[in-house]
Amino acid sequence: MSAAVHDVAVIGAGIAGASVAAELARHMRVVLVESEAQPGYHATGRSAAILAQTYGNRLIRALTRASAGFFAAPPDGFAPQPLLSPRGLVRVATAAQVDDLRAMYDDLSDTRHLAWLDAEAMQERVPLLRPGYAAGGFENVDAQDIDVHAMLTGYLRQFRQAGGTVMTGAPVLGLTRSGGRWEIETAAGQVAAGVVVNAAGAWGDWLAGLAGAAPVGLEPRRRTAITFAAPQGFDPARMPMVVDADEAFYLKPEAGRLMASPADETLSAPEDSRPEEIDIAICADRIQTAFDLEIRRIESSWSGLRTFAADRAPVCGYDPEVEGFFWLVGQGGYGVQTAPALSRLAAALVRREAPDHDILSSGVTVEDVAPGRDALAKAKDEEPGKQTKQGEER
Ligand SMILES: Cc1cc2nc3c(=O)[nH]c(=O)nc-3n(C[C@H](O)[C@H](O)[C@H](O)COP(=O)(O)OP(=O)(O)OC[C@H]3O[C@@H](n4cnc5c(N)ncnc54)[C@H](O)[C@@H]3O)c2cc1C
Repeated sequence: MSAAVHDVAVIGAGIAGASVAAELARHMRVVLVESEAQPGYHATGRSAAILAQTYGNRLIRALTRASAGFFAAPPDGFAPQPLLSPRGLVRVATAAQVDDLRAMYDDLSDTRHLAWLDAEAMQERVPLLRPGYAAGGFENVDAQDIDVHAMLTGYLRQFRQAGGTVMTGAPVLGLTRSGGRWEIETAAGQVAAGVVVNAAGAWGDWLAGLAGAAPVGLEPRRRTAITFAAPQGFDPARMPMVVDADEAFYLKPEAGRLMASPADETLSAPEDSRPEEIDIAICADRIQTAFDLEIRRIESSWSGLRTFAADRAPVCGYDPEVEGFFWLVGQGGYGVQTAPALSRLAAALVRREAPDHDILSSGVTVEDVAPGRDALAKAKDEEPGKQTKQGEER
């Protein structure tokens, strides 16, 4: 028999699991179960920590808009400092890219505070660009840096204050449904809960397999990042994040240094991601082509997994076949900036209540994110066998 019975067990203590656990604990008995010794060790702890209103598809942008109120005014006592600080994000195009980028800019009519910059204005805004490189681009003026650590810690604090229990060092190894509840076997002991929320990030399909649920077709994709010193005499503090028009690289300030990525998206097994030398070299090359700087020494490098469903929208809702199994995965490269709204949506759906009006009115529907949606079923039909392969690693 289990030692402890909860209403909900949330599996995975990244930003997805921590935020939904905090939302649910206000109403229910919740346990948050994490493999690693520390929450946030995987994708959440490795992000570029930017909130960009222009990022992602229509649904991601809607979830980002619905999260804005939380970032601007988190609940009392959530964090000792503001979660956001001004940054700005510039999307830069060469002569060959500028027409397509202009079309993208014209399409972003649902995003406020965008400004088009011609070549001269771009060079002025980003003096580090190699002279003559940029033909134009636009600035997402409202893009902000997110204090991801403060956000994760804030959700975990809220969760504990509401009576929630965190189990770390407790990889879930088995899920058995009997008598209307889940018996959850972890390396740190057994727990039981009426509902399991799958917030296992890259391991989402693997975890579903334990519960006997069909995979939704998650694709973990590796993204690499490096840091290096800024050029002598250049203070990066006020520099915006700079992203290539085709997202082939980005560069942003990071604690007095510069951080760059080749914006790679290499398909990966769910694993403790490590950067490849080739991606680090590609990153350095692309950055030195676009910017007038020399990377003398790479001070640190890391990689993390951005996990996508086939239509690049999150998967949030009860499994259509397996009772009491709820999905909260597939946040891709936007899981931090969308967590406030997505966790509220998920908590409402776990409790079988109507989602908050502001989320629906931002343009998100329950069907858009449902695990049984057509886009996911079709993708699985088209590529049989692909999904099970990825899930076998852990
Ligand atoms: C390089 C990079 C840059 C990014 N930049 C941004 C950005 O600027 N802005 C933004 O919004 N997003 C960004 N993202 C995306 C963002 O980091 C992710 O979308 C988000 O962190 C996903 O959160 P998660 O909780 O779903 O996953 P994770 O943080 O990976 O958490 C999943 C957790 O589940 C646990 N788990 C897995 N299996 C089990 C099991 N069997 N038992 C118990 N626990 C288990 C794992 O240990 C892990 O801690 C970036 C990601 C990367 C990699």
